[in-house]
Parts: sequence; C-alpha cells; structure tokens
Amino acid sequence: MAGGDKVDYVFKVVLIGDSAVGKSQILARFARNEFSLDSKATIGVEFQTRTLLIDHKSVKAQIWDTAGQERYRAVTSAYYRGALGALLVYDITKRQSFDHIPRWLEELRGHADKNIVIMLVGNKSDLEDERAVSTEDAKEFAEKENVFFLETSALQATNVENAFQTVLSEIFKIHS
Ligand code: GDP
Ligand code: MG
Repeated sequence: MAGGDKVDYVFKVVLIGDSAVGKSQILARFARNEFSLDSKATIGVEFQTRTLLIDHKSVKAQIWDTAGQERYRAVTSAYYRGALGALLVYDITKRQSFDHIPRWLEELRGHADKNIVIMLVGNKSDLEDERAVSTEDAKEFAEKENVFFLETSALQATNVENAFQTVLSEIFKIHS
C-alpha cells in the first residue's frame, strides 16, 4: 500500500451461519478474490485479513471463519470476542439455513459487543432457479431486526465487496 504499511484500525468481523451456505467462499472472494466449487469444510484457519482505505485511513479487516463449528452453540465465545461486525449468512436455495437465522442472531447478540454491526447475507444468488427464500421475506426480517441485508454470490463475485464495505464503513463510523 502506498505510504507504507501503517495500520490505523483493526476491525474484527465474524462469519456465522449454517454449514455449506458459502461462508468460506465469501471470505476467499473478499480476501484473495478466489472461489472454489469443491471447497472442503473449513479446518483450522482462524481468520484472514485484508487492508483497505476508509476515509483516508488504513483499516485492517480481520475476518474470522468458523472451523466446522456450525452446530448449534458449538461456536465458542472466543470466536465472538472483540467482534465489531458480523455477516450472518444463509443460502437462498436452502430454506432451513434461513429458518436458523434467528438462532444465530440470538447467539450473536448474547456474545458480542452491543454495538456490533450486523449484515444478513443471502448467498448463492446465482442459483435463482433453485431459490427457496424470497428477497422480500429476508428484507422484512432484516428490517424487523434492524440489521443490514444483501444477497450475494461468492461464485459470481456479486455484492461480496459491497457487504464487507458496508459493514466496515459502519464500524468505522462508530469507532473512529
Ligand atoms: P461454508 O461451510 O459456509 O464455509 O460453505 P463453503 O464456502 O465451503 O461453500 C459450500 C459449497 O457451496 C461449496 O461447494 C461452494 O463452492 C458452494 N458455494 C459457495 N458460495 C457459492 C455461491 O455464491 N454460488 C454457488 N453456486 N455455490 C457457492
Ligand atoms: Mg467453511
């Protein structure tokens, strides 16, 4: 980055949601601009980072990905500790992954900073033919819960950048 590697802020953001909704691919797209169709269940890796500029400040986004802990209440409190933002991800083709969102939200709100910035993310928007969750239902839920909402495709790189940028800018407004 021009001007050296000075980092003004480090913001921790967590990815949560059911297994196979695309959390790791969303992260791969954001951190490395990569995507894999046969991604293995995540093991080991705790987080990836990407540094970006917000309002001329250098912001290091530290994005945490669950390591196969997506069973109910298996995500530990260390995962949520210090998180200032969260992407709450479901798969638009899997109704169950959306039906579990209130649970994830409850768990998140029970563990995280009370000012945490939350973005509901309906991933796999490229699979329109298999859609099982309407955009309207998700939007309505997001409004009721006072969280941001976007539909993304990690495969097509649709709205992934937008989702992270929105969360990070909002965190920046609160914490800078
Ligand atoms: P995780 O368990 O939530 O981390 O899910 P993964 O990132 O491992 O993705 C699960 C599967 O969904 C993999 O086969 C991915 O290639 C696939 N996948 C992830 N994102 C998308 C997407 O936006 N569109 C499509 N069609 N498939 C996706
Ligand atoms: Mg994963």
